[in-house]
Amino acid sequence: MSLKRTFISAVFVIAAMFPGSVTAQDKLPSKAMGVQPMASVAMPQHVSPGMAVDLENPASYLYPEWSNAYVHNYVDVVLPDSVVISMKGYCMPTDSTRITDTYGYRPRRGRLHLGLDVKVLTGDTIRAAFDGKVRISRYERRGYGHYLVIRHPNGLETVYGHLSRKLVEENDIVHAGDPIGLGGSTGRSTGSHLHFETRVLGNAINPAKMFDFPNQRVKSDYYVYYKNTKEVYYKVRSGDTLIGIALKNETSVANICKLNGISRNATIRAGQTLRVN
Ligand SMILES: [Zn+2]
Repeated sequence: MSLKRTFISAVFVIAAMFPGSVTAQDKLPSKAMGVQPMASVAMPQHVSPGMAVDLENPASYLYPEWSNAYVHNYVDVVLPDSVVISMKGYCMPTDSTRITDTYGYRPRRGRLHLGLDVKVLTGDTIRAAFDGKVRISRYERRGYGHYLVIRHPNGLETVYGHLSRKLVEENDIVHAGDPIGLGGSTGRSTGSHLHFETRVLGNAINPAKMFDFPNQRVKSDYYVYYKNTKEVYYKVRSGDTLIGIALKNETSVANICKLNGISRNATIRAGQTLRVN
């Protein structure tokens, strides 16, 4: 079977599994990624067996500070070329197997969906994905609703949104599997679901690359995050031009057009989000 055919049948299988979501997803501009050489990745000390884990300062080798301020407040932080994330000791945040919306950028709607939506009912138990420390426990009326951000020793931060209730407070230490909240539909949400995000130093990663909700397991023991796969977005301001945006973001108009499926002459409007890398 040729590689191309394998790819097409794989796409078909996915499309058959998620008839609704893939139609929005299949036009997604995607950066083709080659296989990354494992040799260049240095295993950090914290993943070595027997290494003591400091839950009071989770992943302090990566995060310069502990702050309860924002979900992604890492503007001045230098992202390493790669981060090895150990998935050991995980717990699925919900036993639901139904994905209701996938991760990704929807150019046509100008919508950036940085998490995975999993169907849960109001009152369903939501559990901590790993051991960690609660960094944010807050309510945001127009966005996440009742939500939590937990920082884990493996370098990951997980976000749990639209909860009906939060069961933990900021700076609480939690263990994988601990009930941390109840499912709901608070904030900008239609219908009860869990909005689940995975981030490294504020950079969102598709949770489906690590967590396989339909099969209730993780995809592998380790996930390696590469800086060069980082997606960059730009919110258009009034007076912006494609050339100006390209210059500002050290990219080309051609690249922006390709990433967003738009032409060079496309009208861009203030407030619209464009992917620029
Ligand atoms: Zn969502």
